[in-house]
This record gives sequence, structure tokens and C-alpha cells, in this order.
Amino acid sequence: MNEPVRIAEGVHRCGTDLVNWYLVEEGGRVTIVDCGAPGYWPQLDPSLAAIGRARSDVDAVVLTHGDSDHVGFSERLRSEAGVTVWAPVGDAKLVREGKVKKTEGSPLPYLRYPFAYRLLFHLVRNGGAKVPAVANLSTYDGGQTLEVPGNPVAVHTPGHTRGHCVLQFGDVLLAGDAICTLNPLTGRRGPQVMPKAFDTDSAEALASIDLLPEASVIGVGHGDPWTEGTAAAKDRAREVGPT
Ligand SMILES: [Zn+2]
Repeated sequence: MNEPVRIAEGVHRCGTDLVNWYLVEEGGRVTIVDCGAPGYWPQLDPSLAAIGRARSDVDAVVLTHGDSDHVGFSERLRSEAGVTVWAPVGDAKLVREGKVKKTEGSPLPYLRYPFAYRLLFHLVRNGGAKVPAVANLSTYDGGQTLEVPGNPVAVHTPGHTRGHCVLQFGDVLLAGDAICTLNPLTGRRGPQVMPKAFDTDSAEALASIDLLPEASVIGVGHGDPWTEGTAAAKDRAREVGPT
């Protein structure tokens, strides 16, 4: 586990070198954006404590999409602390039923990259082979402003999953897996779409890059925050193409 790192006013990156989740703080209340892998549960209390907060300060979990390394410990937090879990409407079925989505490509061709083993073993060790179903789920859609701390505006960015949404907290964009700065299978750094093996539709994921709103900081699901502006991130991702 990494210590939470403040990436912008009230926004903290948590998790590991491979998978990020975020704490967003406003007026002493907290929204958690994505919940890492299920095995990240022990990170929750120490991460909150590191920013001077506790579980009782958490009002909501907002998931960017329905993959296991983002749904993570959300059900446990809901059932143990009564926190409302929000998921994009297009991924609600995946999250409610604990389903693993169909992807466009196979992970097999990526096994020539030593980095792929790091991620795959990490996910298996942390319970990421399954999606822990969230029994009671609230849904949101693109264009909606969520009534949770930080009041993010959701933008629907399909491709990585059908329902995938990015969340804009003012000048900070939490982009989930619409874009990453560390390819979790090849280890390549810099803004790019996720690998085909993890996308529902990689052409659609590339097209969704156009939809990313302007922000001075972009926090991603995998990799370091991007601070050179959305336009530069889009250019880089288009240049790289499918990964
Ligand atoms: Zn992910």
C-alpha cells in the first residue's frame, strides 16, 4: 500500500503502484472514487486516517465502471458502514450481479511482457479474479451532477466498459480507465487507452478520448496523475493508438 498522495486540493491518490483509488474531501465529508481490488480493504482505514478522516466521514462511493479492480471493497464498505455506492447505469448489471465483462482481446498476447505477470498475479492475490457483487446500488448517468461530497459531473465515456464514466470535480478529472498513464499489461508509461485485453471495444475507447473534459489534473486508475492538461493527454493517447 502507498501512503495517500494529494494530487489537488481535497483529492488524494491511494492504492498501490498498479491500481489507484481516490479520496475526495469537501467540508469534512468524503467521497471515495473507485475501491481498488477487493483485497485492498485493509488500506481503507489507514488511508482515511492519513488525511485526518475516518470511516464515519465517508458519504459515498462512486465507481467509474464495473471492473473488479475498481468495484473492489465497495460492497464491504456498504454493508459494514452503510455507505451508498453509485455506479454508472450502463455497468449497473455487472456490479449488481458481480459479473466479469466480455473483452475484445485475450490477455495471452500480452504475456510476452514481463510487466503483465506483475499485474495479473497482483490481481489474483487481491481477489480481483471476481467482481464482488454490490447488493444495493444507486445508479448515475452521463451529464448528471452527483449529490455527493465534491459534486462531480459525470461524462459517459464508453469503450473500456459499456457504461464507463469519468468524473469531473471542478478542475480535477478522475478518469477511471477511460485513459491510463501506465499500461497495466505492457508497463508502457504516458497517456493511452487501456489494452484491448481489458476493453469491451477499443475503437470506442479511443473515440471516447474526444469526450474527456478539460482539467488541470487527471487522476487515472492506473499510473501517475497527468498534469499537462487534457488536450496534451488526448494528443498522446491518439498518437499511441490501440494498446
Ligand atoms: Zn482498472
